[in-house]
Amino acid sequence: MPNLLDYDLDGLAAWFAGLEEKPFRARQVMRWIHREGCDDFGAMTDVARALRAKLEAQAEIRAPALLRDSLSADGTRKWLFDVGGANAVETVFIPEAGRGTLCVSSQAGCALDCAFCATGRQGFNRNLGTAEIVGQLWLANKLLGPAGERGDGEDNGRVISNVVMMGMGEPLANFDNVVAALRVMLDDHAYGLSRRRVTVSTSGIVPAIDRLREECPVALAVSLHAPDDALRDRLAPINRKYPLRDLMAACRRYLERAPRDFVTFEYVMLAGVNDSDAHARALVALVRETPCKFNLIPFNPFPHSGFARPPVERVRRFASILSEAGIVATTRKTRGGDVAAACGQLAGQVQDRTRRASARPLPMMEVCS
Ligand code: SAH
Ligand code: SF4
Repeated sequence: MPNLLDYDLDGLAAWFAGLEEKPFRARQVMRWIHREGCDDFGAMTDVARALRAKLEAQAEIRAPALLRDSLSADGTRKWLFDVGGANAVETVFIPEAGRGTLCVSSQAGCALDCAFCATGRQGFNRNLGTAEIVGQLWLANKLLGPAGERGDGEDNGRVISNVVMMGMGEPLANFDNVVAALRVMLDDHAYGLSRRRVTVSTSGIVPAIDRLREECPVALAVSLHAPDDALRDRLAPINRKYPLRDLMAACRRYLERAPRDFVTFEYVMLAGVNDSDAHARALVALVRETPCKFNLIPFNPFPHSGFARPPVERVRRFASILSEAGIVATTRKTRGGDVAAACGQLAGQVQDRTRRASARPLPMMEVCS
């Protein structure tokens, strides 16, 4: 039975056309589902009774099942969702003054195997469907309630003002489902988020960055982690396929269409690996022609990772070299550490398909500020 959370507006209109229903009916139902958080066709009072009956018989509105809901002392909230087959993914909400960010997962596990990432350690299980991606936002909105009760959030009455595709998985390796989900996030009949407030984070799949620019240019974050190919090959193996020169060129092409005039480079700081003054200076040279900001993420440890977080002073010094070269560099605060919701700690429960020696279920996702 079709799950209507799987459709963006065009997809829903096409499905309605198959029922011989007009496109405005799709818009109406879209608003009920996403603006009202409604999953009961019977309650859609301005939808013709006959159509409601058809929908009840032929469709459903089903978000992933909630397995766990944890609240951190700092207000960060983490949900664990069942995505079937003994797999679970995590979604994290990070409240801050004036905004609320939802960190959304795109895959159960990840095939890209970055050396420092708990999700990568688990191997790849499967792509999430559009309904499972959108369903994270749909359910989080319901669980958080309207903004008025909390005194924060957006003018539209919602607590979630920003979405970042920085949970488990590589969003651009699940391109079609992620883009359909992004379209729902942006649609005025659904969540109405501006392109600047929706961010895709990628480890650097160059052809998919180009496709995103054509099909759905939202804010772009690129996980850089190293200033040269030799080190990046080691930390983020996707670099062997798409080396830094190609990645930088793709970022510049993206900026021709992007809603922001810079790319955000994420840089996980690993003690003694990529955190020296020389690395910082090499980064300055690398990005000279690419308008960007840096988001430094002190490594979040997990068992048997083989990496450590640099001392605060080292991170500060690294940031200051970037700043002195005129590059805005912020250091990501670790949020939700007490509920294992920090960047790179999101693990859900993903069945390991790779049988990597160190693979194990880990809490795995990080959140971004
Ligand atoms: N796959 C995408 C998005 C998910 S990861 C990507 O790689 O960009 C979101 C961010 O968390 C990435 O920048 C990733 O490198 C970072 N990350 C992964 N493991 C981490 C860890 N253990 N500590 C800190 N950040 C980590
Ligand atoms: Fe996948 Fe991103 Fe983790 Fe790399 S950092 S393994 S791309 S989720």
